[in-house]
Amino acid sequence: PRQCRAISRLQSSLKAVNAKNLDVNALVYVPQCINPAVDTDLPLYDVPVAIKDNICTASMPTTCSSSMLTGFTSPFDATVVELLQSAGAPIIGKANCDEFGMGSLNMYSSCGPVVNPYQPKSRTTAWSERERRYAGGSSGGSAAAVAAGMCPVALGTDTGGSIRLPASYCGVVGLKPSYGIISRWGVVSFADSLDCVGIIGQNVDYVKRTFGILSKYDKKDLSSAKPPTRTKAREGCRNAMTNWQSSLSGLRVGIPQEYFPAETDRDILGPLKQVIKNLQKVGVTVVPVQLPSTPYALSAYYVIASAEASSNMARYDGIQYGLRVDPPPGADARKAADVYGYTRTQCFGPEVKRRILLGTYALTADAFDNYFLQAQRVRKLIRADFDKVFRHANVLMTGETSVGPEGVDVLLHPSAIRTAPPIPDASIAVENSSKESNGLESSLEDYVQDVLTVPASLAGLPAISVPAGLADDQWPIGVSVVGQWGYDEMVLRVAEIIE
Ligand code: GLN
Repeated sequence: PRQCRAISRLQSSLKAVNAKNLDVNALVYVPQCINPAVDTDLPLYDVPVAIKDNICTASMPTTCSSSMLTGFTSPFDATVVELLQSAGAPIIGKANCDEFGMGSLNMYSSCGPVVNPYQPKSRTTAWSERERRYAGGSSGGSAAAVAAGMCPVALGTDTGGSIRLPASYCGVVGLKPSYGIISRWGVVSFADSLDCVGIIGQNVDYVKRTFGILSKYDKKDLSSAKPPTRTKAREGCRNAMTNWQSSLSGLRVGIPQEYFPAETDRDILGPLKQVIKNLQKVGVTVVPVQLPSTPYALSAYYVIASAEASSNMARYDGIQYGLRVDPPPGADARKAADVYGYTRTQCFGPEVKRRILLGTYALTADAFDNYFLQAQRVRKLIRADFDKVFRHANVLMTGETSVGPEGVDVLLHPSAIRTAPPIPDASIAVENSSKESNGLESSLEDYVQDVLTVPASLAGLPAISVPAGLADDQWPIGVSVVGQWGYDEMVLRVAEIIE
């Protein structure tokens, strides 16, 4: 009977999911029915999960929300999908995202934008009269599905903030784990040195349970952290946590002074101050810290991510991968051979094209030293900044040293510089279309959204965004907790304290 109840709950929840999805557009694919083989002994049997559309699933299409992969179904499941399925989690669909994960608002999707399901209490409940705001991106569908109650957990990917930003905008929890802790095998690459699979959840406990299932070494993923490295970091992390088990006064939290750039909306500072006050009330030591290379992180990120993206996107040539668009009949001979050009012009959206151009330029012989190499140098400085403030050594560094007791266990900062931006109504969108087509102003504005999330990505550190209450405009805002590499359990623990 427990099994029957679980099955019927799932089927009726699928109906509800379809109904909600009409408004939110969080899922780009919902199956007709969910595999009824419910095993109530499995740890996640009662945790329906949505999977971001750039993570391969054998039973559902994987399109990266791009016209390029329309109708593509992978012949295999990504390791993370296999792990979820063996833990019994029912998969309720594929989540909308910015095309190939490139974006911060979930506006660059071939399936249309995701509408943030959150609504200030004071507003009307009629959907047509609601305030329409972006869900954030690129894992906007995953965050919105959780925020709308379609599923308690969703998988996303985070290259420069794509889990933490939508989690903050939608008022849910989002974990980007340490780079290499969760397998990327079967995940469509955007920028391999930064890409992480992460978890969005209704609360920290759901995220923690799912993390326990997914955080495993995978020999198929060459960037997966090896078991001895994991063990070393985990032991360091658990030892450190015993110091503040009985009294939180042993826990030291650092507030990086550089994480309040000029673009920060002052309205979001109230919730952050409250979180700090609450932590101090329970005995936590909060200290200011400096991460001086932070102002260079955003530029370095966009150079590195675009360079890697331009190389990864080369495989969509209309021949081996992706849709094929043939030149029209009657095209002259030179053009007729250009399947590559026709396919890519038609099938990639504006942001993906922009990244390919930006990245290809950064990798040209003329620009390489000034852009790509310079960005790699900045990345090194960012990593070193973090290692100088944490009291725990980075196990990935040879000759690891730690700052000792004066350092901090974790860092705390706002997840985003503002609450979710409004979706312009159609008429405004048309007016702005010239701005959109030259692409400059609008995309630079979008890129700034990531200013607080990219440093942890460049350094490969675990970071979790936890809802911190409402800003002055009555929309949610998150705070992020960042820890040393491999200290994912610690950031989860601190997130629990904040929650
Ligand atoms: N917004 C960032 C970008 O567009 C991050 C995207 C991501 O994390 N996938 O590159």
